[in-house]
Amino acid sequence: MSEDDFLLLNPGPVPLTDRVRRAMDRPMVSHRSADFEAVYERAQEGLDYVFTRSTIDETRTSEAGTSLLLNGTATMAMEAAVANLVDPDDEVVALVNGKFGRRFARIADRHARCRRVEADWGDSFDLDAVEAAVSDDTAVVTLVHNETSTGLLNPVAAVGEIADAHDAAFVVDGVTSIGGDEFRIDDWGVDVAITDAQKAIAAPPGISAVYVTDRIEGALDGDGAPFYEDLDWHLRKAADNQTPFTSAVPLVRALAEAVDQIVEEGLPHRIRRHRRQARAFGDGFTAMGLERFPTLSGPTDLSNTVTAIDLPEDVAADPDPFFDAVAARDVSISGGQAHLAGQIFRVSNMGNLTDEQVLRGVETVGEALRDVGVRVDVDAGCNTARDVLNKD
Ligand code: PLP
Repeated sequence: MSEDDFLLLNPGPVPLTDRVRRAMDRPMVSHRSADFEAVYERAQEGLDYVFTRSTIDETRTSEAGTSLLLNGTATMAMEAAVANLVDPDDEVVALVNGKFGRRFARIADRHARCRRVEADWGDSFDLDAVEAAVSDDTAVVTLVHNETSTGLLNPVAAVGEIADAHDAAFVVDGVTSIGGDEFRIDDWGVDVAITDAQKAIAAPPGISAVYVTDRIEGALDGDGAPFYEDLDWHLRKAADNQTPFTSAVPLVRALAEAVDQIVEEGLPHRIRRHRRQARAFGDGFTAMGLERFPTLSGPTDLSNTVTAIDLPEDVAADPDPFFDAVAARDVSISGGQAHLAGQIFRVSNMGNLTDEQVLRGVETVGEALRDVGVRVDVDAGCNTARDVLNKD
């Protein structure tokens, strides 16, 4: 098979369009040149659109703020958001029901006092417990919108109300939702939103972005943050379309192209496409005879960008041959993370997948399961997925 036949269905990084790839293959320029400043401005305008218009309701837009590009993946953006909003004695309430919620808590441990509100990975939060944990002493509440480790959507609006009632800053990781699903900064009371280049935006990995709303900007204190993540400094330089330190020039060029493509598609269309493709994966796999992970309860929904499926019992006992059979077909999918390794597999529909690629993903998983002796109805899975894709 040629390189172009390879189908990347991991929940990040995701496939790049030819336009995005070509954007990186240009002569280098200085990050202090007018040439680069123009690219930065394009990237920032596109990010503003993505952060403030990630909704299918075209009448809604979000309050003013600033999109900042960071030289580092989303973990750096998560740390920057927290570290610029707390002193060591401050309290952060971190909501943890998956790997990335836990990452926020670990970051908060380093920079402040962290109080965790935990649920089992894949379970819903008990909003009464969140209410009980957040107080007027809470400086920051952190939440992951789309928990990539479990394929769950957490209730941002409900948690935002609780944070707002106590004047706590609300920092939300929209890494695997922003640009592919609804994300309403204003309606949900989000103060700082975070995303990654390599997920629903479909740019290469290595850089990330934060959206700092005007209402929280005055609360930032870059002096207490790691030197490289001083958001006050980033804001000052952003006013001149620059970053404080050497920009990742090829990656910013690629991101500028990726967000241009999002603007061209339009977010309402893009979000509907993501929802349809996620439903095709989910319904296709269940029609084949597989079961979804997690079981929904409480105020959570299934993700529209990442589909998680229980591995059948026999496969869970020895998952490698199944993943090898998928890889042998030139398709890459993910297993579970941490204690979910060997229990689930995950596929992503983030970015610019075609419907044919989604169908190939469904078929490949079905055939790979059959290879390792699982009785699945691959045709039923593919037919169901095709019906979903053809419906709208
Ligand atoms: N947040 C979420 C929801 C993620 O899915 C990821 C990565 O998969 C991250 C944060 C961290 O991204 P990175 O490992 O690229 O820093």
